[in-house]
Amino acid sequence: MSELVLNQVKKAYGDLEVIKGIDMEIEQGDFCVFVGPSGCGKSTLLRMISGLESITGGTISIGGHVVNDVPAADRGLAMVFQSYALYPHMSVRQNLTFGLENMRTPKADIASKVDEVAKMLQIEQLLDRKPKALSGGQRQRVAIGRAVVREPTIFLFDEPLSNLDAELRVDMRGEIAALHRRLQNTMIYVTHDQVEAMTMADKIAVLRLGEVEQFGRPLDIYNNPNNIFVAGFIGSPR
Ligand code: ADP
Ligand code: MG
Repeated sequence: MSELVLNQVKKAYGDLEVIKGIDMEIEQGDFCVFVGPSGCGKSTLLRMISGLESITGGTISIGGHVVNDVPAADRGLAMVFQSYALYPHMSVRQNLTFGLENMRTPKADIASKVDEVAKMLQIEQLLDRKPKALSGGQRQRVAIGRAVVREPTIFLFDEPLSNLDAELRVDMRGEIAALHRRLQNTMIYVTHDQVEAMTMADKIAVLRLGEVEQFGRPLDIYNNPNNIFVAGFIGSPR
């Protein structure tokens, strides 16, 4: 069964239609990459899936249920942003656990979960530090850890590596791929980087001007692009 179904999803800001009726089905466990040039609507679409942004047409279903009216916090998703969005005044441990108290998880379970995730992401030495005492790569590990601790059904990543330098970006790509192999969750990953899309994705959606130009497996798109835009975008070296 498809875990996430978009049916004619639209978004307009006044007269400006930025998402123009998108249909897509994403299977449980797939690593799906939304790729496309700046301004094509990747973040808007991701934010509509997460519930951070309202939709102006169509339906979004998760696990077979329409979630148009379900608040972001109740969708069972977790989002990782480019800007990390950590709480500066809290320690890493507090950043990882903040909000979990409200989810009726027993305290001891929270502590052991945090230790497990911290180990998985190699941040167990950093739990007592504040974000400002961390490098960019460490901050992004914490942001990813905060998502993992919440055990979401779907992970949403919005250009999580674009603030990192090239070498670290390659390392973190590998780590996110390893996380996906380990957790086997559905992940949706937004990037404007063709190499990230080609190397990380089970499925790629190529977006342009609020529409999906092509959706499929990376090699199928590479070998059989629907049009010149897709060919140029996926085929061209950076
Ligand atoms: P991407 O993430 O692919 O770079 P965005 O989803 O951020 O693209 O933006 C898609 C389009 O929607 C852009 O033209 C952008 O200017 C427009 N847009 C985004 N947010 C708003 C907003 N709050 N009000 C008006 N236009 C917006
Ligand atoms: Mg964006």
